[in-house]
Amino acid sequence: METHHTFCRICESLCGLEVTVDDGVITKIRPDDLNVGTAGFACIKGVKQHKLYASPDRLTHPMRRDGDTWSRVTWDEAESDIGRRVRAIVDEHGPNSVAMYVGTAAGFGVLHPVFAQGFMKGLGSGSMYASATQDCANKFAAARQIYGFPFTQPFPDVDRTRCLVIVGANPVVSKWSFLQVADPKQRLRSIAERGGRVIVVDPRHTETAKSATDHVFIRPDTDVFFYLAFANELIATDAIDHAMVDAHTTGFRELAELVAPWTP
Ligand code: SF4
Repeated sequence: METHHTFCRICESLCGLEVTVDDGVITKIRPDDLNVGTAGFACIKGVKQHKLYASPDRLTHPMRRDGDTWSRVTWDEAESDIGRRVRAIVDEHGPNSVAMYVGTAAGFGVLHPVFAQGFMKGLGSGSMYASATQDCANKFAAARQIYGFPFTQPFPDVDRTRCLVIVGANPVVSKWSFLQVADPKQRLRSIAERGGRVIVVDPRHTETAKSATDHVFIRPDTDVFFYLAFANELIATDAIDHAMVDAHTTGFRELAELVAPWTP
């Protein structure tokens, strides 16, 4: 029996894991207390992932559906069948009619991004989607506009902030994957323990809202008005660091004009 220290590749939180291997088979996965980044924290997906490998439902070879029945085919048969069908779709509807969706974990394989993008480039299709384009494309679009690069993301300094406003995120469940903080529930509570505030804006009384000092309900689909009114109020009450704005930003006057009609 051996113990290995490794990390989870399911999401970008990269939680440290301690894995017991018995005769080449993973028998147990635990959060790794020694990992400096995640300090003994991991979620249920990470510590149960070895069950996936042994699952009888795991697909380890190609299967073809004929009506309601499935039959095993060789890789060669599968590839030429898929090739024929993809070619027919592209011929009839154009390359963008073929889309690809990849999840976060795909980014942890060396070959997956190379072949996935190579395949789509080869087809000439730009219809490439991912978990990021599904739930947080706005973050990347805004970062590109503001900072010039989509992956330049501003993060709150959770351990020093005194007032944290969380809009439409549920880090107690998601583990705040962009920030990659261990034990998000305790980190949020620590803000309150040192006299700060955590204000959650969310249509639902989420798990995170339960750990916050304040919860503000918001009607779904109205976030943009919340942000407009928030900026309006900051400017109306002059809660602005003008030296910082002057030194580091452009377009503040245009922003002030844009938000002026949108009072809380
Ligand atoms: S949060 Fe869960 S899925 Fe993500 S890296 Fe950690 S253990 Fe894995």
